[in-house]
Amino acid sequence: MKLSTDGLIIREQQTGEDDRLVTLLTRDYGVLRAFVRGAKRIKSKSQSATQLFAYGKFSIYRGKDAYSIDEAQPIEIFFDLRNDIEALSLAQYFCELAGELAPVEDDAGEYLKLILNALHMLSKNKRPHAQLKAIVELRMMSLSGYMPDLVACGDCGKFSDSGMFFSPVEGQIFCGECVHDHTCTALPNGVLSAMRHICYTDISKLFSFTLQEESMNFLTNVTENFLITQTSKKFKTLDFYKSMKG
Ligand SMILES: [Zn+2]
Repeated sequence: MKLSTDGLIIREQQTGEDDRLVTLLTRDYGVLRAFVRGAKRIKSKSQSATQLFAYGKFSIYRGKDAYSIDEAQPIEIFFDLRNDIEALSLAQYFCELAGELAPVEDDAGEYLKLILNALHMLSKNKRPHAQLKAIVELRMMSLSGYMPDLVACGDCGKFSDSGMFFSPVEGQIFCGECVHDHTCTALPNGVLSAMRHICYTDISKLFSFTLQEESMNFLTNVTENFLITQTSKKFKTLDFYKSMKG
């Protein structure tokens, strides 16, 4: 059986002298792993389309035990990522997140759109790294069933207060009166607005907010803490990104 879909290569491993195993985030079938047979012989066009961060159109053969890529046509290679080791390490983190959180054998169009937009912004240096990281973390959490409730205080329903507080364990916000029963981080107002924006806005406006550098760093720490708390996972690429930041 043959599958035809577009997708992004989010991981590559050498498996034999001439074979590679790649992981794709595809629009129609989610995350899937496929062999690239005779990688060195494959036409140069298909070769560049099966490298890490390559986005393209794929024709994939589904065999009894494994998928393999028949044909690959590159659409976007994100070549500029390779010029900046910090950007590269952040891109790898985005790919690892997608590999963990995106569905298997199911529609993943929203995940793909999110990652492609983020990689574009990252490769063209259009947004601060802290902002892109916060957006990808929180939006992908929301897509994969971990969307926090940021509308109103989880206990009394108050929409705003002199300060609101976020519980990464509960994925809820609380007002100054109710916070005492919960373990929370105090959210500066701009940070709460940014989190609401990331969770609730249409993808076309997702990347269009600004914050001062200090608040942006605060935001990215909150979204990371939420992600780690909820998934209980360790992301090697996140540690690597942080070591690159120094
Ligand atoms: Zn309250």
